[in-house]
Amino acid sequence: AIEVVEDKEEDLVNRAPIVTVMGHVDHGKTSLLDYIRKENVIAGESGGITQHIGAYGVTLDNGQKIAFLDTPGHEAFTAMRARGAQLTDIVIIVIAADDDIMPQTKEAISHAQAAGVPIIFAINKIDKPNANPDKIKERLAGMNLLIEEWGGKIQSHDISAKTGLGVKDLLEKVLLEAEILDLKSNPNKPAQGAVVEAFLDKGKGYVSTIMVQHGTLKIGDYLLAGKHHGKVKAMQDERGHVITAAGPSTPVSILGLDGAPTAGDKFNVFEDEKEAKQIAAKRSQLMREQSVRTQRH
Ligand code: GDP
Repeated sequence: AIEVVEDKEEDLVNRAPIVTVMGHVDHGKTSLLDYIRKENVIAGESGGITQHIGAYGVTLDNGQKIAFLDTPGHEAFTAMRARGAQLTDIVIIVIAADDDIMPQTKEAISHAQAAGVPIIFAINKIDKPNANPDKIKERLAGMNLLIEEWGGKIQSHDISAKTGLGVKDLLEKVLLEAEILDLKSNPNKPAQGAVVEAFLDKGKGYVSTIMVQHGTLKIGDYLLAGKHHGKVKAMQDERGHVITAAGPSTPVSILGLDGAPTAGDKFNVFEDEKEAKQIAAKRSQLMREQSVRTQRH
């Protein structure tokens, strides 16, 4: 069985916050994620080309790290939560300053609140002549969402995902929020986490992006994710760099599973390969039985 051992205080170290970006369509989620990803490519790296693996990590000038889930929109967020994965520590909600609080903005706010995850507002597109960030802040206040600037507790920053204006300060606010959350994890144990995305690559086989939440994942570890399992044969970061170990809050793309697990599936590392296989077989059996039952009804 999976051993549940309480971590000792002295084993815990700070870990980077894991951030999800949500907001109404066209308000700039993808632009913000793209800007952050590009800006944080270390100078001299392969032309700044990064692969889309569903998540990436950035290191700021001060050496601090943030991990981003690179699937904008709340579908991914709710899908993960529905499967029991609580991956997100902080939600950035992007609101276009030339628009209004829109239905999906409200949905994003409710999702974050239901999950008990702190929100940071990114009031976007302030480079546009018709941008009116104050109107947005007023609307938020009208919804009982008072930002700090207006005497409240919620962090917010005016940005342009297009020019990059304010994005650095926004990330500083993410780190500030992370400090308040006091995120800690024990890197010295078998890895645990959740699946971000997975697909079948014609040449490589099943490629899964997973987020390590606790412990450290190493090459050769035997992993069980949902109903799939296998030995980790290779690991890469979002730049395609080969890595041999991934600690807490590190997104990593792996080869070696016998199928594509579903986004939000939790994963564990097993010392005993046989045990992992048995559990995987049991899970597959249960799922088959469930689908037979739903078909009968
Ligand atoms: P998403 O649907 O929330 O992912 O929105 P996108 O990132 O795709 O952006 C929608 C459109 O708004 C695109 O045409 C972007 O180029 C544009 N856009 C995003 N951010 C900004 C910004 O800060 N300023 C301006 N002027 N345009 C932006």
